[in-house]
Amino acid sequence: MKNYNVFTLSILAAAFTLQSCGGGAEKPTEPAADTTTVEAADDFEYFAEQFADLKLIRYQIPSWDKLSPKQKELVYYLYEAGISGRDMIWDQNYRHNLEIRKALETILANYSGDKESEDWTKFETYAKRVFFSNGIHHHYSMSKLPADFSGEYLDGLLTETGATLSEEAKKAILDPNFDAKKVNLDPEKGLLKGSAVNLYAPDITEAEVDAYYAKIVDAETTTPISYGLNSRMERDADGKLVENVYKSGGLYGSAIDKVTYWLSKAADVAENKAQGDALRLLVEYYQTGDLLKWDEYNIAWTKATEGDIDYIQGFVEVYNDPKGYRGSYESIVQIKDFEASDRMKMLMDNVQWFEDNSSIMDEHKKANVVGVTYKVVNVAGESGDASPSTPIGVNLPNANWIRATHGSKSVSLGNIVHAYAQAPSKGFSEEFIRTEELRARSKEHGALSSKLHTALHEVVGHASGKLNDGVGTPKETLKSYASTLEEGRADLVALYFLMDSNMVKLGLMPSLEVGMAEYDSYIRNGMMLQLRRVEKGEQIEEAHMRNRQLVASWAYEKGLEENVIEKVVEDGKTYFEVRDYNKLRVIFGELLKEIQRIKSEGDYEAGRALVENYGVKVDAALHDEVLARAEKLNSAPYGGFINPRLVPVMEGEKIVDIKVEYPDDFLGQMMEYGKNYGFLANE
Ligand code: ZN
Repeated sequence: MKNYNVFTLSILAAAFTLQSCGGGAEKPTEPAADTTTVEAADDFEYFAEQFADLKLIRYQIPSWDKLSPKQKELVYYLYEAGISGRDMIWDQNYRHNLEIRKALETILANYSGDKESEDWTKFETYAKRVFFSNGIHHHYSMSKLPADFSGEYLDGLLTETGATLSEEAKKAILDPNFDAKKVNLDPEKGLLKGSAVNLYAPDITEAEVDAYYAKIVDAETTTPISYGLNSRMERDADGKLVENVYKSGGLYGSAIDKVTYWLSKAADVAENKAQGDALRLLVEYYQTGDLLKWDEYNIAWTKATEGDIDYIQGFVEVYNDPKGYRGSYESIVQIKDFEASDRMKMLMDNVQWFEDNSSIMDEHKKANVVGVTYKVVNVAGESGDASPSTPIGVNLPNANWIRATHGSKSVSLGNIVHAYAQAPSKGFSEEFIRTEELRARSKEHGALSSKLHTALHEVVGHASGKLNDGVGTPKETLKSYASTLEEGRADLVALYFLMDSNMVKLGLMPSLEVGMAEYDSYIRNGMMLQLRRVEKGEQIEEAHMRNRQLVASWAYEKGLEENVIEKVVEDGKTYFEVRDYNKLRVIFGELLKEIQRIKSEGDYEAGRALVENYGVKVDAALHDEVLARAEKLNSAPYGGFINPRLVPVMEGEKIVDIKVEYPDDFLGQMMEYGKNYGFLANE
C-alpha cells in the first residue's frame, strides 16, 4: 500500500497516517510538513521546473557521508538495479509506449529545425508529460495526454530526424478517442475493454479471466500466492489463456537480467546475512518467475530489519490492473534517516517526562507511557511506477497472510516529504507571510520545527493519556468525531511542548525560536492557508484539516481579549500573526486538557460541539480570498522528482567511493535514462 501526495484533492493529512494516525492509510495524503514551512529552509534549490499540470522537484540525500564505502556501494547497486527495470513500466502501461518514447527521444536528440516555434514548444511539453507519466496516459487521471500539434507536424519531425512510428502508435498519439484511458474502473465500459493498460492481450474478456483464476486459485490454503502478479495474460495458439511470465528468458527478460545482475552485486555487499539472503531470493524469483519464491522473498525481506539500507523492488502494486492481479514494476532505494532516528530515540527516552509534564489532568495521565515509533527513511533513487511521481509513504508486503504472520514494514519517505514542502511554488511565502521577520524565522527554523512537530505528534502525542475505567474506545464513544479529536490531541501535545525549554535542554532544538516558528505556521495554516485545498462552497471534511482549524480558531477566540493572535488586514490581504507565544502555549494547554477529558470520559456532546463549532465551517469571504491568492501563484497540482545521480569513483576495477550529483534538468535525465537503460526499447 502506498501513501500518495496529491495536491488536487482536498485532503490534508499527516505524512504518517500509515503508521499511527489511523483510519487514513489508503487515502491520498500530503506531507504534514505542508502545515508548517512555506519557504526553503536551506540553500538547496528544490524547485526545478513547471509545465502543464506538473511540477518537477529535486531532492537531496542527507547524511550520505555517514555511510561506509561498502554501504554506498550497496546503495549504488540497488539504484542501478532499479533504473535497469525502468522500461518494464513503460511497456506495462501501454503496448506502444516504448516505441513512442524511442521516437520522442530520437526527435528530441536530432531535431535541428526551429525550436522557437509554438509547434515545437507544444511538442516538447507533450514529450515531457509523456516522460513524467511513463507513457502517453496521465499518471493520475489515466486519460490520454493531449497532443496539441498536428499529424503533419509530427510527420515532419519524424522525417527530418529519422525517427519511426507505426501507424497505430501515431494514431495513439493523435486520436484522443483511441485507447483513451489507461485504467478504466467503470464496469459499463468494460474493465478490460475500456482499459489500454498492457497487462492483458487486447481481446481477452473479464469473464475469461475470472474463469481462468477460478480454476487455478487454491481456495483452501491459508497462504495463497499472488496469482498473476508477474505476467501478461495472453492466448496460446489454441486460443487458451496463458500467463506470459516476466522473468529471465521470458517476457522482459533482457531488462530483468540487468536488474538481477545489479541485485546480485548488491547481495555480495549486503550489510548483514538476512539482507543478503533476501536479495538472493529476489534474484531467484526474477530468474524463475516462481510466485512461491516471491512469497519466500517477501518473508525474508520483512524480517531483514537490521542495517541502514533498504529497498522496494519488483512487481508490487496492482492498482494499474483493473482486475487487481498484475503488479507494476517499481523500485525505491532507501537509507535510514539518522537524524529522525536520533530525534525519535530522544523522545522515546523521555516520553514519561512529557506525560508527567503535560497539561492534561493527572487522572488522565499514564503511569507507564510507551512511545509510538515510526520509521523515516531517505530516498536515494526511484524508478518504475514510483518515479517521477512518487508515494510519500509505503507499507509492504501486500499479501495479507504474510502481514498477519510475519509483519510488515512501513516507512515514511523523509527527504521526499521535505522536498515537497520546500517547493510549494515561487512567491508563496511572500504572498502569505507578511513581514520580513516572520519570513526569516520560517526560513531559518521552519524545517526543524516541522520535523519536531511530526515527531512529537507521533511518538508522544498519539501515545499520551488514558481512558477512564469503563469508558468505551473513542470510536465507540466519540463516533465520527473520534479521529478529528485524536489528531487534535496529538497536535496539541506537540504544540504544547514545542515552547518548552526542556526541548532545548534535551538538545532537540537550539532555541525556543523553533517553537515560535511552529506557532506562526500552525496558526497561519489552520486559520486560512489550508483553505486553498477546499473547493469553493465546500466545508471542511477531512479529519486532519478539521483538527487544525479547530485548534487554531479555538485558540484565536480564547486569546481575542488579550490579542494573543492578531488578525491583520493589509492591502486587502488577511494575515493571522501570533503576538504572545507564551500565552498561546497556555491556551493550547487548556484545549489539550479539555480534549483529553472528552476522550477519557467519552463525552460525545462536548466533542461534537468542539468539532462542529470550530473545525467544520468555513469563513466564505476568507476562503474566497485564499483561493484567489493561491491561484495567482499558479502552482502545478502534481509533483514529481528528478533523481540524484550516483557516480562511482574507480581505482582500476575497484569502486572506492560513490559521489552524489543533483541534476536539475528533467528532460536531460529522461534522455540519459533512455540512452543508458533502454534495455527493452533499444532491443
Ligand atoms: Zn496523527
